[in-house]
Amino acid sequence: MLASLAGLGVDDVCIEVDGSELPLLDGSARDWVAAIAQAGLVPQSDLSAVRSPHPVSEPIFVRQGDAFVAAIPAPELRFTYGIDFDLAAIGNQWHSWNPAQDSFAETIAPARTFGLAHQIDQLRASGLIKGGSLDNALVCGADGWINPPLRFSNEPVRHKLLDLIGDLSLLGSFPTAHFLAYKASHSLHTQLVEKLMSVA
Ligand SMILES: [Zn+2]
Repeated sequence: MLASLAGLGVDDVCIEVDGSELPLLDGSARDWVAAIAQAGLVPQSDLSAVRSPHPVSEPIFVRQGDAFVAAIPAPELRFTYGIDFDLAAIGNQWHSWNPAQDSFAETIAPARTFGLAHQIDQLRASGLIKGGSLDNALVCGADGWINPPLRFSNEPVRHKLLDLIGDLSLLGSFPTAHFLAYKASHSLHTQLVEKLMSVA
């Protein structure tokens, strides 16, 4: 939901949640984007509340092993992600999104979350993913995808971009930078958010 709001340029919104967590829907942001489009957007009328993007002036990154997330000074906003899995169906994937060029709704929002078949039983045993099913996540096994078809050939890495955009939305607005992540996680994403907030 946060990725959808940020991806569509919404930075002033009231959110009310009735329940302990947000619905997973189909594991992507597609339904959130559709609901936001249905509700419609209103330009900020109070000009003093309009946010002006501030640039990142030097590279800032967080790293854990070979995984990292970085904010690199750049002339315009861009998000790039890479993942690398031993499973042949996922393998090495990269995707780059420039909000000024590509539609969030069409190129990022439909990408569903994904899981690895051998991890699902462990998560279930730990009492997690109780709402998870083959209807709201792509599941990958040793012999390939268990529930194809994919919406994009690199749907997994596009979903990682979606995750990154949602986590970076905690900044309130995106500083102008090239956000570059490799094999990262929500934890590393939010560590970068904290670091960016501490230097702002
Ligand atoms: Zn996700």
